[in-house]
This record gives sequence, C-alpha cells and structure tokens, in this order.
Amino acid sequence: MKVAFIGLGNMGGHMSRNLAAAGVPLAVFDTVAARADAAVAHGAVLAESAASAVAEADVVVTMLPTPAIVEDVLLGAGGVLAAMPEDRLWIDMSTSVPEVAERVRARGAARGIRVLDAPVSGMTKGADSGMLQIFVGGDAADFEAARPLFDVMGDPERVLHVGGHGAGYAVKLMINQLWFVQLVAIAEALTVGVKAGVDLGVLHRSLVASPANSVLLERDFLPLLTAGDYDEGFAIALACKDTGLAVDLARSVKVPVEVGAVAEQVFRRARAAYGDLAGEMSPVKLYEDIAGIELRMEAAA
Ligand code: NAD
Repeated sequence: MKVAFIGLGNMGGHMSRNLAAAGVPLAVFDTVAARADAAVAHGAVLAESAASAVAEADVVVTMLPTPAIVEDVLLGAGGVLAAMPEDRLWIDMSTSVPEVAERVRARGAARGIRVLDAPVSGMTKGADSGMLQIFVGGDAADFEAARPLFDVMGDPERVLHVGGHGAGYAVKLMINQLWFVQLVAIAEALTVGVKAGVDLGVLHRSLVASPANSVLLERDFLPLLTAGDYDEGFAIALACKDTGLAVDLARSVKVPVEVGAVAEQVFRRARAAYGDLAGEMSPVKLYEDIAGIELRMEAAA
C-alpha cells in the first residue's frame, strides 16, 4: 500500500517517520521541507508539492493545522483531490470538522474517492512512540483497509472505529474540550489551595487520592508541576482552534455549553497573553501570574 503523507509538523513528523520506519512506501510533503528529514532518513521520498506526493498513492494522509488549511490543500489550486488517481482513500488525521471532509467527499465521489476522518489523541509523546489513540469515522471497510497504517501510528488497542463520517472529529473535539475544561478547573484548585497555605505536593497527592482525581491531574500535569513544561508540542493557537470548534459544534447541535464556553475564553486569554506558540497548558500560567506564584513541586522519587 503506497502512502502519501502531508503535514509533517509536531505530530505528522513523528507519524510519517514511524510509517517509513515500518517499511511503508511513503511520499511526504510539507511547506517547510526540513520537516521531512526524519521520514526521509527512514526511506520516505520528499515530493515537490502536495499534488505530486499523491500522484501514485493508494492512501493519502493529512495532518494539518486547521480546517481551512485542510480544505485548501485538498480543494484549492493545485489541490490534492484533483491529483489523486481514481478509487483511492483520503484519511484526514487533523483535528478538523465534518463540513470540510463532506465537501471533499462530494467532489470526489464520482471518481470513487473514499474518505475517513481519523483524528488522534496522545500528544507528541504518543506520536513519537507510535502509541496514539485514533478515532475513526467512516465506512467499516475503509477502516479495515487502513487498519495496518493506524496500527503503526497508534496503539492497536486504542484504534477505534467510532461511527460514520464525522464521528471521529466529534469524539476528538469532545476529548479535547473535556481536557481543556479540566485544565482550567485544576489550575484554579491548585492556585487557591497553595495561596491558602497548603504545600503543592501535599495538595496534589490529596487530590489524586480523592474522587476528584483525573488522568490529567495525576499524569498530564506532572511535567508542568515538576519542570515548568507547558507542552509547547501543542501550540495554544491550535488549542484555541479546537476549543472554538467544540463550542461551534455545540452551537450547531443546539446544546448550551456554559462551562466549555468559559474554558474557551480562558484559553483565548492565555493566547493573547503569551502568544500563539505558547504551550497548550499556558492557561495555568494565567492563574500563576494572578496569584504571583509558580506551581512547582519535587518529582516523586
Ligand atoms: P504543526 O503546526 O506542528 O504542524 C502542521 C504542519 O503542517 C506544519 O509542519 C506546517 O508546515 C504544515 N503545513 C501547513 N500548511 C501546509 C500546506 N498548505 N501544505 C503542506 N503542509 C502544510 O501542528 P501539529 O501540532 O502537528 O498538529 C497537526 C494537527 O493535529 C492539528 O489539527 C492539531 O490540532 C492536531 N493534534 C495535535 C496534537 C499535538 O499535541 N501537537 C495532538 C493531537 C492532535
């Protein structure tokens, strides 16, 4: 199965390298050519354009920042869809929206172009280790056909077919939204507790031992609390994109999301304060700055 991989950033760089290292015949493209280096070192071929990357591919994978860029790469001038041979499969692993994929599907259907949405969770660490969670929306037969690729990039136990077209995007957006809401709530709780005089390590251990514990508190917060790592592997600009898309999705299905909307505003405030490239956990820094403290503790031995 020949694969073309487009978008080789913080996530796609690792994912494409893992495919190449697994021996998958691979053509890669990114507007920043140097981002192909890791995949090329493992045998991938760097294409001159997105269109030339897909010319001989059976499967086209995209891992791009925003829905607008996904649409431009697929349907814009010199776009990928027109360059794909008939009866091929496009898998969008970006965190995007069904509307864009639907427009591609509608335009490609006459030539037998099939589409899966397959966004991922697991941060850059999961992309690097090939242990991502992958949430796939689309036809079961296409999911099965692409399964060997998903199993290279993700943890086979957590590669899930979650429903029809668009279901993968919806699951992914709700995962992120729940994580973002929890992040803001945890930042508040830790900051208030420390300002009230509790040692951060004691507070953290107490919360982890309580019914209020979460994977985010117990695991994902540790690099920040022990080493000041706000996870620049996922830029706050993209986190704001995701929380905005989640609130848009809620609006489109007519469900009020007061808590999610507040979290979205906090994330936007952090982006305004610290810049587009600040890490996705920078909203915690807002609380640290307001309180005049840094939430830091010793790593457990
Ligand atoms: P990134 O910005 O690091 O990488 C995106 C890449 O796309 C860049 O290398 C950029 O040069 C390239 N690109 C932009 N426009 C292009 C075009 N027209 N043609 C070809 N290449 C183009 O982003 P990322 O962190 O790798 O995230 C990619 C997607 O995965 C996003 O939708 C994001 O929301 C999602 N995601 C990210 C993480 C994470 O931890 N970083 C985790 C899960 C999901």
